[in-house]
Amino acid sequence: MSAHKAAAAAVDPAKGSPLRVLRPRRAAPDHAVRPTRAEVDLSALRHNLNAVRKAAGSARVFAVLKADGYGHGAPAVARTLERAGAHGFAVALLEEAIELRDAGLRAPILVMGGYYGQAYDELLAHELVPVVYDASHFEGLSRALRSRDSDEPAKVHVKIDTGMSRLGVRLEELPALLEIAKNFPQIVIDGVMTHLANADVEGDDAAASVDEQLALFARGVADVRRHGATPRFVHAANSAALVRTEGAKLDAVRPGIALFGHDPLGTLGLRSTLRVRSEVVALRTVPVGTPVGYGSTWRAPRESVIATVPVGYADGLSRSLSNVGQVLIRGKRAPIVGSISMDLSTIDVTDVPGVKLRDEVVTLGEQRGPLGSDVLSLGEVAKTAGLITWDVLTSISRRVPRFYREP
Ligand SMILES: *Cc1c(COP(=O)(O)O)cnc(C)c1O
Repeated sequence: MSAHKAAAAAVDPAKGSPLRVLRPRRAAPDHAVRPTRAEVDLSALRHNLNAVRKAAGSARVFAVLKADGYGHGAPAVARTLERAGAHGFAVALLEEAIELRDAGLRAPILVMGGYYGQAYDELLAHELVPVVYDASHFEGLSRALRSRDSDEPAKVHVKIDTGMSRLGVRLEELPALLEIAKNFPQIVIDGVMTHLANADVEGDDAAASVDEQLALFARGVADVRRHGATPRFVHAANSAALVRTEGAKLDAVRPGIALFGHDPLGTLGLRSTLRVRSEVVALRTVPVGTPVGYGSTWRAPRESVIATVPVGYADGLSRSLSNVGQVLIRGKRAPIVGSISMDLSTIDVTDVPGVKLRDEVVTLGEQRGPLGSDVLSLGEVAKTAGLITWDVLTSISRRVPRFYREP
C-alpha cells in the first residue's frame, strides 16, 4: 500500500486529543510496538511558514524539504505547506521530488542536486524543474524531450558557483554554457540561483563573503539576461540569508531549517515543530559504585535509580549526548548516564520523585508533567551534542514513526 495514503485517526492516550497518524513507508508504524515516536506539530509548521513569508516580503517561498523534510516526513509537511501558501518546494534528489509528486503535491518542485543519471525522462514525466550547470544537463534533457514528442518546453534553473565551490557553473564558464544553451530552444532558463557559504556565520568576514557572493551572482544574472534568457526566479537565500541579508531576498527564497523552528537571529518567533518521546521500559535501584552501560563510563556516585529508555543512537539520539545530555521526565530534567547504545539509553532519575514504568521521556521538545514543564530546544540539544540543528533533525531515523498533530 502506498504509504502516504494510509492515514488513520488515533487518540493520544496521554491527552485524549485526536492525532492524525500518517503511515510513511519509512517508519513502519504498523510494527511500532515500541513507544518511541516523533510528533510533528503541523500548526507550528504553518506558523513558521507565515513568519518566513512575512520576512521574505515579496519574494516567493520555495520550501526546502530535502532529507525527508528535515526528518519530519516530506509528504505530510509538503501538504501542509502547500495549503498554507508556499509557492513551491526544493529538494536535493530526484527521488525526493518524485515522492512528493506521488503524494499528490502539485506545486513547482525544484531538484537541486544536479545528478539525474539516466532519468531525465522522469524529470519531465513528473513536471519537475532541474537545477542545471553543465552542458550534459542540457543534452540529457533535450534527448528526453525529443523522445516525448511534445512541444512543451522544459524549465530549468541555472546554478552559478559564486563561492561554495561545490555545484554550479563558475562565472568564467557561464558565457560558454549560455551559448550552448542557445542550441536548445526547448529548454527555458526560468530561474538562476546561487548558494551562500557564510550566511549563518557571525562576523565581518562572513558578511563580506556574503556581499562578495551576491555581487558575483548579480554579474552572473546579468550575463544570463544578456544572452536573451528571461528568468522569473532569481534566488540565493537559505534561512539565515533570508533573515540577515536584505540583499539576498530576490525573486524567491529557499528556507529549510527556519520552517522547522531554527531561528537564525531569534527574531522571527519561530515555533518548534518536532518532539521526540518515548517511555520508561525498565527501572532499577543500584548501589553506589554500580557501572552503567558499555565501557562502564558512568558509575553510581550514590544509591541511584536508573531508568531505561528505548531510544538510542540508531534512532537519532546522538551518542555524543552520553553522560552530558538530558531528557525530560515528569516535566523535569534528568541526566543521560552511561553510553547511549544503539537502541537504548539510561537516565538517572534519582532526583525525580515518583518515576514509574511507562512514564513519558522526551529527548527533544517540550514536556508538561506533574513536576513542572520544560523544553529541550533543538538549539540546546544540538549544542550539547556538538552538532548543528540540521544534523539533529535529519538523524532521526526511519524506524522512529512520525505522528502528525493537527491541533
Ligand atoms: C539545504 C539548502 C537550502 C536550505 O538551507 P537552510 O539553511 O536549511 O535554510 C537552500 N538552498 C540550498 C541549495 C540547499 O542545499
